[in-house]
Order: sequence, then structure tokens, then C-alpha cells
Amino acid sequence: MFDHIETWIFDLDNTLYHPRARLFDQINTRMTRFIMDELGVGRAEADRLRGDYWHHHGTTLGGLIANHGTDPGKFLADVHEIDLSALKPDLTLAEAIRALPGRRIVHTNGARTHAERVLAVRGLTGAFDAVYAIEDKDLVPKPRAEAYARVTEMAGIDAARAAMIEDDMRNLEVPKALGMTTIWLCHQPGRRAEAFVDHRITGLTRFLRGLPRAGEDI
Ligand SMILES: [Mg+2]
Repeated sequence: MFDHIETWIFDLDNTLYHPRARLFDQINTRMTRFIMDELGVGRAEADRLRGDYWHHHGTTLGGLIANHGTDPGKFLADVHEIDLSALKPDLTLAEAIRALPGRRIVHTNGARTHAERVLAVRGLTGAFDAVYAIEDKDLVPKPRAEAYARVTEMAGIDAARAAMIEDDMRNLEVPKALGMTTIWLCHQPGRRAEAFVDHRITGLTRFLRGLPRAGEDI
């Protein structure tokens, strides 16, 4: 079923660690605080702007740049300055990723420093051949098609021989249209997969360990 896969593309947040770590809560709080400080507005207005920017620009940062000329580096460094003590090394996951036949890459909407910190704390540094962060995509996030096109081009990915693993189902619709095998890591029991999901899984390590391993003759 996965014999033809030569590139494994992993999302980062809530995929390479469990959402119970609640890192997004910290990032969201910092985004609101950043807008309050940057624009001199109250919390309610900052939250309203975040919703508005997300709706019209796809990300809070996109709205800040378009409307206020915000420095993206300053924003990304600030909002990702979070406490990672909820994360622990996961050597079983690291081993399962390293054992995958083919190339392993990360495609995240987060900042590069955030990705590197998370991978380090999870014991996953070096388990991937490349990490593509939001800065590598001209700040264009998944699920916009340009984000995937950018990574596909930079990494030289043959979509028909690539699999993408994501916890956010929306982010699998474009990969499926590109011809990738889509694997949805579902954290919500009972939630059904859309037609663009090829495989619905509930545990990443369990799924990976069930796959053929690198160098295994089958
Ligand atoms: Mg995610």
C-alpha cells in the first residue's frame, strides 16, 4: 500500500507531538499580546483583528503585514517564544521515523526556530532530511496551494510518490489533488474523514511501526 512512497512529509505541530501539550494555546495568547503591544489596542480588539486577519489573509501575520507593515521576523520570533516543558523526548517515534524507507521531511506553518526547538525537545533532531518552515514559503501557509507548490519544488518531490501526514484535515485537500497519498492523524474520536483522506490514523508511532522498514526485503 505504501511501497511506492519515496518521500514522507510530516506536519509538525500536533502531529509530531500530541495536542495535549497545548502549545497553540500559548502561541495564540502571544499573538493577541503582540497585536495589543504593536497596535496599541485592547484584548477584545486584538482578538477581533486576529479573527479578521485569519479570515481575509489566511494567517494573523498575513493581515499584520498587509495592514500595518509588521516585520515578519519580529512577529515569528515573538509568538513562538513559548514554554516547551510539556514536550518530552520520544525515542520510539524517532526510531520509527528513521526506519521509514525513503526521504523524510517536515512541512510546517510554524517558524524555523520553533520547528528546530520542537524537534530537539522531542529527540527528533536529525530524523528528517529537511525542514520547510513558513519563512521558506514566503510566509504562505498551508492550506494554500502555493505553499505546497513551493515545498514540492524546493524538495524536488514527485507527488505521486509522496505521502503527507497531518493532524489538520483541511491541509490534506491540496496534497490529494496533487496526487499525494494523504494520511490524517485524527485526534477527535468519531470524526469522519473527507474523501480526500486516503488513510485515517489515530496514533502516529503505531502507524509508522506497522510500515515496512528501511532496507527490509519484502
Ligand atoms: Mg498540525
